[in-house]
Amino acid sequence: MKDTHFILFTDCIPVKGANRSVICDTKNNTYFYIPNGLYDILEKYNGNTIKNIKEDFNDEYHEIIDEYFDFLIKNKLIFFNSNPQFFPKINLQWQHASKITNAIVDFDVIIHDYKAVIQQFEILKCSYVQFRFFKIVNIAFLNEILDYISDIESRIVSVDFIIPFNKNVDKEKIEQLVFKNSRIHAIIIYNAPTTKNYNPINENMGYILEVERNILNEKHCGIINTEYFYSNINLLSESLSHNSCLNRKISIDKEGNIKNCPSMTQSFGNIKDTTLEEALQQPLFKKYWNITKDQIEVCKDCEFRYICTDCRAYTERTHYNKDIDVSKPLKCGYNPYTNAWEDWSTNPLKKKAIAYYEMEELITSD
Ligand code: SF4
Ligand code: SF4
Repeated sequence: MKDTHFILFTDCIPVKGANRSVICDTKNNTYFYIPNGLYDILEKYNGNTIKNIKEDFNDEYHEIIDEYFDFLIKNKLIFFNSNPQFFPKINLQWQHASKITNAIVDFDVIIHDYKAVIQQFEILKCSYVQFRFFKIVNIAFLNEILDYISDIESRIVSVDFIIPFNKNVDKEKIEQLVFKNSRIHAIIIYNAPTTKNYNPINENMGYILEVERNILNEKHCGIINTEYFYSNINLLSESLSHNSCLNRKISIDKEGNIKNCPSMTQSFGNIKDTTLEEALQQPLFKKYWNITKDQIEVCKDCEFRYICTDCRAYTERTHYNKDIDVSKPLKCGYNPYTNAWEDWSTNPLKKKAIAYYEMEELITSD
């Protein structure tokens, strides 16, 4: 093998951080930690032979180079072929035909006219919708929404419901809902007595997750941890040139205000008198759409930057580029310079921002 050219699988994307790198295996939604030395070898020598690499390094490094390649082979990240020119790098340019790809609709005491909203999602060609309920919701209402989506043969392919636990609702009723509606991607039930993940009956079904955490309002959004990393070619390529959360997103907050994300302060009208299209046409609506993690303080040095969500609604509020907030997301406890995760909510450096967002109560309730 050492005389044959090695090729990194085209959907395995190496990303260099300050202290270590990762290879994002976008086919299998996973990632592998690698030292920065191996990242540099992959960047410089992909398509070369191991023998070529060794020729450029002193003998003392040969053993470690062998270890690197054992690791790459074992994890099926590379293959060998004598014609590397036939295996070009994947095109990571992101394009999408829809004006809006994803949406959030929040419900509290006001019940929005969901039919009018869904009709407008059709015009914008939006396919992914998350409905979040901050008050107990009747399962019949979720059913109504799904029936409507189905009746109009909507292009919406994925629906998430985030709902509070209700001891009066039989879990079988929720399971039936998921079973009946292939558009449901997930039903997340918060404030549950225990955290429990219910395996879908079949692989085409959405999943049901019960979590103990309580969600009082939109301020609970924006948490960054490894559970939310998504190593997928679509998200990764979008993250290279756009914001990984806010690009082509539209939201209706609990009062009916149209925003990029429900947690943002700026509203572009209310669904009672403004269409989503009109809101979208306002230039500031897209203010954060093209802000990538490469522009964000700390994140720009983080190996997870293309598989991590970028929250612009809650940040550390420490760095600005003109009127663009380029500070690290507030709810991230990761330090890419030490590779340590800490509890973000107890970090004294974040205290001021936590007070600014009036999140003290939320932190104690978590
Ligand atoms: S910007 Fe932050 S608060 Fe808004 S949807 Fe994204 S993660 Fe949630
Ligand atoms: S430092 Fe930035 S990119 Fe890294 S995990 Fe935290 S939020 Fe994500």
